[in-house]
Amino acid sequence: MWLDFSMFLVLLGLFFYVFAVGSITVLHKIYLALHLVLMVWPLTQFIAQTMPGSSYRLFYLSGSYVGLSLVGVSWFIFVVFMTGQAKVIRTRRIVMLAVPALLSVAFVIANPNHLFLSINEQLGVKQLQSGPLFWYMIVQLFSYILVSLIVMGYTIRRGVSVRHQMLVRTAINGVFVLVLFGLGDFLVNIIFIDYFPSYFSIFSVGVTLSAVYLVHAITRHRVFDIIQIVQRDVMNTISTGIIVLDESGIVLEFNKAMKPILKLRIGEVFTPAALAVHLPDPIRQEFNEFMDLQKEQPMERQELEIALQSDGHYRYIIVQSAPILSQKRKELLGRLLTFHDVTELRLLVDETNSQNELLQDRNRELLIMQDELFQANKKLEHMAITDGLTGCYNRRYLLQQLEHEIAVNVQYGIPFSIFLFDIDLFKAINDTYGHLVGDEVICATVEAVKGTLRAADILARYGGEEFTVYLPHTNREQADIIADMVKESVEQNVVKTGHGNQSVTVTISMGVVSVEQFEQRALDDSKAFLRELLAQADAALYEAKFGGRNRIVKRKLA
Ligand code: GH3
Ligand code: MG
Ligand code: MG
Repeated sequence: MWLDFSMFLVLLGLFFYVFAVGSITVLHKIYLALHLVLMVWPLTQFIAQTMPGSSYRLFYLSGSYVGLSLVGVSWFIFVVFMTGQAKVIRTRRIVMLAVPALLSVAFVIANPNHLFLSINEQLGVKQLQSGPLFWYMIVQLFSYILVSLIVMGYTIRRGVSVRHQMLVRTAINGVFVLVLFGLGDFLVNIIFIDYFPSYFSIFSVGVTLSAVYLVHAITRHRVFDIIQIVQRDVMNTISTGIIVLDESGIVLEFNKAMKPILKLRIGEVFTPAALAVHLPDPIRQEFNEFMDLQKEQPMERQELEIALQSDGHYRYIIVQSAPILSQKRKELLGRLLTFHDVTELRLLVDETNSQNELLQDRNRELLIMQDELFQANKKLEHMAITDGLTGCYNRRYLLQQLEHEIAVNVQYGIPFSIFLFDIDLFKAINDTYGHLVGDEVICATVEAVKGTLRAADILARYGGEEFTVYLPHTNREQADIIADMVKESVEQNVVKTGHGNQSVTVTISMGVVSVEQFEQRALDDSKAFLRELLAQADAALYEAKFGGRNRIVKRKLA
């Protein structure tokens, strides 16, 4: 018999163990304790009634009253936790609060002088005689229930969340059933026992009904499983499709996002064919390989991107597969498949890319424009320093260059020369052949002069048909030779007039100034020196004109 009892204890211990280590909430555990306390009553009542001897009966009845003594306090603690006031109650306070109940338990066990309960076998039905300590038990029981009701009323008055209200309503209904049947039992089996032929297990029924109701409420509304509710809600509200497979590929669970694309039910084996969307052959093949790879490397995470065409649009889905491992041993329990639609992301990336390309095009256009501007600038610069008709340098450029060159020449004592020449009797050409021919003659003369000059010499139009040449590193002797060559080449140059076969030739008069030595004043004011130089050249040219034209007048400065 004791072996049986030991086995019962072992089984009871196991029962506790399973619930204690499972992923259940504190509230679950407290309810479980209440449930166990409730279980004591019907069990011991049953045993007591099967016992023939009065001492045994008293023993088991005491057991049931121990259970009953604890119902109030258990219920109270359950209510406190359920209404979210667990923080108010610390362990020491719980012990203090449990004192009346524990006292009642002590009374039941000790039953001093049968002050709690006695059995009088002579009395037939009304064998059980309850003493004052029995009434103490009833009072503490109802006190706990009353306080529980006050706590629940207070919680509802505080206007707590819907979840809280649901919890409290569940608890109130439970306590209502319990109290109703408790009162019934009390009336039938204790107060009005004389009117009933035998014992009715009314309270047992009440205990069971209230427990059934609570369990039903717990499982139906999942009132305790806030974490699980949240987990389920999260799983069902996210847009990523989730499928949980066991190690043999059977579907254990899938979320709401997966529903429209899955033709399977829980318990069936997952294959790519189970997807409700049409997979083109190459993608199906790829998907099959992906699933095979998972079987080959079950501990690895895999990823596959598939492009599906629906309503003419492509949807890009990243399928990921990850192993589900046990917490302790890291053994493979199954796989988690997720389907993540990245179309929006793709579109965004594509959009960004095309924007980028557009920007690059714009950039290219800008670069071209920049180049065009650069070329135009160059042209403008060129135009600013050249003469439009002849293409040689203009007066401004020449003067600018001369200023700089002469300063350097003077500083380092480098000899140089300047020519100033003017076409002889040019007005006559204009008058005879017209200005256009005149222009042509000017241009042809420039070409002829250029042909005899060196690359470093600078030819510039000084005005009208008057030109200047700057000859760097050129002493008087070299200048004389070049001047003769220039005069000669112009003279030899035959220009077609366009008037029948007529052609013209022109001559030039030239003033040549060469500088070989430098005075201090040239160093002091190079600008004034240049002015004097040009004046000398002009004077020489004038002299050449005055002397009969088609000649060279040379001057040596300093
Ligand atoms: P001289 O020998 O004294 O220099 O006699 P000239 O007729 O050449 O007299 P001058 O040099 O004073 O006159 C130059 C003329 O050249 C005056 C002007 O009508 C003409 N002329 C100046 N520039 C141009 C031009 O760009 N094109 C044409 N066709 N004629 C020009
Ligand atoms: Mg002239
Ligand atoms: Mg002139």
